[in-house]
Amino acid sequence: MTDNALAFLHVDSEAARLIAGADWSASLGPVETWPVSLKSAVGLLIRSPVPIVLLWGEDGVMLYNDAYSVFAGGRHPELLGSKVREGWPEVADFNDNVMRVGLAGGTLAYEDQELALNRSGRLEPAWMNLDYSPVLGDDGTPQGVIAIVVETTARVLAERSMAQGEARLRFLDGLNRATLASRDADDILAATTELTAKHMGASVCAYADMDPDQNGFTIRGDWAAPGSTSIVGRYSLADFGALAVTELGAGRPLIVNDVLADLPAAEAATFQAIGVRATICMPLIKDGRLTALMAVHRNDVHVWTDAELALIREVTERSWSNIERVRADSALNDSESRYRALFEAIDEGFCIIEFFDGPHGPLSDYVHVEANAAYTEEAGIANVVGKTLRNIVGAEADAWIARYRPVLMTGQSIRFEQELEATGRWLELAAFRIEPASRKQVAVIFKDLTERRVAENALRESEAQFRTLARALPNQVWTAGADGLLDWFNEETYVYSGAEAGALDGEDWTSIVHPDDLPIAAVRWARSIETAETYQTEFRLRRADGVWRWHLTRAVPLQDEFGQVVRWVGTNTDIDDQRAIAEALGDVNAVLEQRVSERTEELVRTQDALRQAQKMEAVGQLTGGIAHDFNNLLAGISGSLELIEKRLGEGRTAGLERYIDGAQGAARRAAALTQRLLAFSRRQTLDPRPTDVNRLIAGMEDLIRRSVGPVVEMEVVGAGGLWATRVDPSQLENALLNLCINARDAMAPEGGRLTIETANKWLDEREARSRDLPPGQYVSLCVTDTGSGMPPEVIERAFDPFFTTKPLGQGTGLGLSMIYGFVRQSGGQVRIYSEVGLGTTMCLYLPRFHGEAEEATDDVLPVVPPGHGETVLVIDDEDIVRGLIVELLTDQGYRVVEAADGVSGLRMLESIGRIDLLVTDVGLPGGMNGRQVADAARTMRPGLKVLFVTGYAENAAVGNGHLEPGMQVITKPFQTAAIVNKVRDMIDGR
Ligand code: ADP
Ligand code: MG
Repeated sequence: MTDNALAFLHVDSEAARLIAGADWSASLGPVETWPVSLKSAVGLLIRSPVPIVLLWGEDGVMLYNDAYSVFAGGRHPELLGSKVREGWPEVADFNDNVMRVGLAGGTLAYEDQELALNRSGRLEPAWMNLDYSPVLGDDGTPQGVIAIVVETTARVLAERSMAQGEARLRFLDGLNRATLASRDADDILAATTELTAKHMGASVCAYADMDPDQNGFTIRGDWAAPGSTSIVGRYSLADFGALAVTELGAGRPLIVNDVLADLPAAEAATFQAIGVRATICMPLIKDGRLTALMAVHRNDVHVWTDAELALIREVTERSWSNIERVRADSALNDSESRYRALFEAIDEGFCIIEFFDGPHGPLSDYVHVEANAAYTEEAGIANVVGKTLRNIVGAEADAWIARYRPVLMTGQSIRFEQELEATGRWLELAAFRIEPASRKQVAVIFKDLTERRVAENALRESEAQFRTLARALPNQVWTAGADGLLDWFNEETYVYSGAEAGALDGEDWTSIVHPDDLPIAAVRWARSIETAETYQTEFRLRRADGVWRWHLTRAVPLQDEFGQVVRWVGTNTDIDDQRAIAEALGDVNAVLEQRVSERTEELVRTQDALRQAQKMEAVGQLTGGIAHDFNNLLAGISGSLELIEKRLGEGRTAGLERYIDGAQGAARRAAALTQRLLAFSRRQTLDPRPTDVNRLIAGMEDLIRRSVGPVVEMEVVGAGGLWATRVDPSQLENALLNLCINARDAMAPEGGRLTIETANKWLDEREARSRDLPPGQYVSLCVTDTGSGMPPEVIERAFDPFFTTKPLGQGTGLGLSMIYGFVRQSGGQVRIYSEVGLGTTMCLYLPRFHGEAEEATDDVLPVVPPGHGETVLVIDDEDIVRGLIVELLTDQGYRVVEAADGVSGLRMLESIGRIDLLVTDVGLPGGMNGRQVADAARTMRPGLKVLFVTGYAENAAVGNGHLEPGMQVITKPFQTAAIVNKVRDMIDGR
């Protein structure tokens, strides 16, 4: 049963074996159970040599024979037993229709049906004849479709290629005919692109010339199919991608079937921008360089075939050879016509002569083959073409033959001048052989020189005249050729330089030019030679004795009638003296300028100084006012002290000392402050004396050393022969000490170097003005430190009262202001020279005093020797002060008389016999002040010594510190010792 059931498969066939061995359970069921109709159909087809496939059931399960398995190619054996839709997905639609028709009982037949099948891993066109018939099942209804499949691909392709070959040949023939007749490269390319594009179904066909850089290219012409646009324009190859660059650069065509699939997006975009989807670009390589491109573009995806590639290659080569032919033709035409035009246009006479053997021997005559229009003009003979030399100028023929025959024989060109005797023209001629020599032709080009000759002769004559003239000139004169080489110098030049005759020719003249001046002269000379512009320069020339003297050199060109420089005539003129004067003038100007700028600076400084002075004046007035108030304050303090003393006198002593000390301390501080303010306001009462500043410093050295401490190294540099100055010595001491303490503070805490220096200064107008002083002689006292220095804004304000940069409680800001006031009042000046980080120098300038300095008073007030009964009259309205003075002086051994006002004081003067000293307060009640009293007293007793006791307010009354001899001042409040000393000094005549 089993054997019988499978009998339909009992045949020597691979397909039969596969069918028998397969597992059909999932589709048709076991083979044994197949319907008889199915078995018989399979039994039939399996034995057929024709490719047959049975599509069984609704799904069209595929059962086929060995012949069909060949047709199925790579799809076999998986195809066997599969549903036809799944077995051939690429043609599913086609087979759906087959199944529908077949199962409905219909039949289908196709001849050379093209189907794209994937039988070898890729889709390929295939052609076949197909016959479909229904297969009836056991129940008599169609249960399947049977197909006979005969592949005709090979035949179809063969037929096609034959047709293509024919079309190709027809195309190439047409192309040939279209282009061969053309004499124009553009026409050829236009025809080529159009025919090629049409033949190949391209959207655009274009040709392009490459730039020499091998990247840029220009599409000169193209043909675009209807619906496509021209792509004429300039492009960069690199934009079309690396593939384009490498392939075309290597001379290989660029082939792209689908720019979107085959190229990176950016490169594809370049193609797309010009509407290209598929392309072949064919390069043309010339001498190893990419010179041109022919491109065939399509706007659809296209699989280029070898045949298409070959065709484009052929078209490209053909059209380029065509173009070259045409170009060569036209170049030839061009050069011929150019030559003709030139030949006729040139001013020179031109002819071609051809030698022949004449009666005078071999090559003894020539005939004019060609001659241009200028020939007649230049030679003076017309219509020479066709005529022989001996015909035209027989008499001089030998001379011309002698010139030209060697040219023909040797091929050596010549250039010469010769007179054409027949017409009396001087000709300049050039002759060269026309190759090949067998033509026996020589070309002659010539020009009539007659006029130039005449001009040259004239020039020679005038030159001779010129030299005669130049010899007579006192200047150095020289000449040079058009090439710039000097060739003649007059006597004067040789005499000046001492050079041997001829020793300056050519470039040797440079030997007498100063080497420093030569480069510029050489450059200018070269420029003049080039531009024919007048040459002018200045340089030093060496005189025979070796002295260099400045010369002005000028040279003008001599030009011929054509504007051509023929010679140069130059002169050298000695300008040494002028230059010296000019330089001296230059110096004077420089000095003047400097003066002006100095004066300007000075003016600015003076203005600054003035501003500063005005400011200080204002501040001075202010502080004067303050001082007045302070004095009142002092009076209050003193008054309360008085009171305390009174109470003490009454025996109410408990706890009063504290107040006494406090009041006295305050009084001292207030007094000190007042003193300084007064000093600054220049209203302090000074006691100027002729002073030796060096001695004053020496007396203070110990004190200063103690004050500045051991970290400061101190040096005193006193000028020898230092002038005296008239100042208040104790104020100067005060000032010096202040300066040194400021210096110490500026160098704290590290310390540094302190230098005290004196000098004689003679301030001229300018120096004096800059210091706001009258010009004259001064003594300077400078204190220099190596401290912090002062920034400009501190310098500006340092003299302001109360200005300090020191922490609260450490600086009063009165030191410098007091110094300023004191020095100004003393007729001097103080200056700050300071640099931040480097240190400061403070200088006092004090007017010179003509005379001897007085002995300095001892710095420590001595115990005073008692008086010897000398009489002192004391006038003061304040009982306490007067009482104090009287008591003090009496203690010292003087006889003291007293008065409470000026009038009673004067009365005493009249009545008392001897008076050695008048001590008077300035502010006195009763209509007479102290000064008036003193003056009145002196009328009675001339030369009477007077000591004024003053507060600030009375200062002006006694003469602003400028007192007559024998008058002195002491300021309230005073130390007892001070007044005692004063009195002693005055009485003792100091
Ligand atoms: P004081 O010393 O109480 O500050 P001064 O009038 O003596 O007042 O000085 C005013 C200011 O000038 C100082 O605070 C300081 O800033 C500056 N000064 C004075 N002398 C010097 C100096 N030698 N070096 C640096 N700065 C100085
Ligand atoms: Mg100070």
